[in-house]
Amino acid sequence: MPTIHSFAASYAEARDKFLAAARIAGAATTRFDNPSRGPAGEALSCDVAWLGPDDATKVVVTISSTHGVEGYCGSGFQVDWLATVGAAGLPAGTAALWVHAINPYGFAWTRRVTEEGNDLNRNYVDHGKPYPANEGYLEIADFLVPKDLSPATLAAADEKLGAYRKKVGDIAFFRAVSGGQYSHPDGLFFGGGGPSWSNRTLHAIADRFLKGRADVAVIDFHTGLGPYGYGEPITHYDIGTPGSRRVRAFWGESVTESKRGQTASQARDGLGHYGLNRVLTEPATRLTMCTLEYGTFDRESGQKAFRADAWLHKYGDPLGKEAGPIRAAMRRQFYPETDDWKEAVLFRGHQLVRQAVAGVQKGAL
Ligand SMILES: [Zn+2]
Repeated sequence: MPTIHSFAASYAEARDKFLAAARIAGAATTRFDNPSRGPAGEALSCDVAWLGPDDATKVVVTISSTHGVEGYCGSGFQVDWLATVGAAGLPAGTAALWVHAINPYGFAWTRRVTEEGNDLNRNYVDHGKPYPANEGYLEIADFLVPKDLSPATLAAADEKLGAYRKKVGDIAFFRAVSGGQYSHPDGLFFGGGGPSWSNRTLHAIADRFLKGRADVAVIDFHTGLGPYGYGEPITHYDIGTPGSRRVRAFWGESVTESKRGQTASQARDGLGHYGLNRVLTEPATRLTMCTLEYGTFDRESGQKAFRADAWLHKYGDPLGKEAGPIRAAMRRQFYPETDDWKEAVLFRGHQLVRQAVAGVQKGAL
């Protein structure tokens, strides 16, 4: 039976559990201080645990909290792995790099975005170039985040969104909503405004721990898309490339490839995959990465939670009395606190990490 007690009830508890588990496992930890504070004034940081030889040529990486509140899931897995597997799961020459709470602001505030309002997984674009356009988002921006959350305003906004969805179809609708946009800093799925602290921190981690290694496998933990409790490994390699071959060799037939249209994810630009791919390049380093996306509740309830969260931080008071129910809805949407869901997270997480450890032993494919 998995040890579901590795999951935490708050960001601060998650960090404490992670640091304690890392210490007991014999991992070396490094702290990256975030300049913002949590809702209770608590200090925030991304903490990194390295387990294995310093000169390892093969590294398996897990990342939690790319989308803030989704960190409850990834953190719970990271702690469980450190407590139940640890060094015993690492062959010679292989290390584990556990990146805990890469977006600690979002984790602590029960939000998906960073302190800059960024969707981190849309932020790894080249900020020196013009941002990608999202014409669809421009059309529906004011209906996605209306000025108030009264039933009348929401009903009117939903009618407009429904009409737009009918006009363009489901795929174009979800791409407009969630594919990423670079025009509305207070809106949903915003990726612009320069590299966020979390983006810069992930680059610093890659520079310090991953550059020059022969084989690096990365599993980035997410929640909110797909069937309840199922973990889908989503990848973004171009078809026919060594990376595309490796993800299938590592993780088998359950891997979905966005370039083959196999996943429901509509993310297109600025993914963490592209950020790491720019700094860890073949042939010096073979990077094999997937987004591990665990299903929770339906997409529509997710949109409602995003809308209320964006409204709270644009028009409302994030520390006022209206904040409580909005944060509770966000938390439930991205972290179903049931034992069966946590057990599914752990089972699948251990399976994919074991496959990644075996995968990096294979070298070039
Ligand atoms: Zn996510």
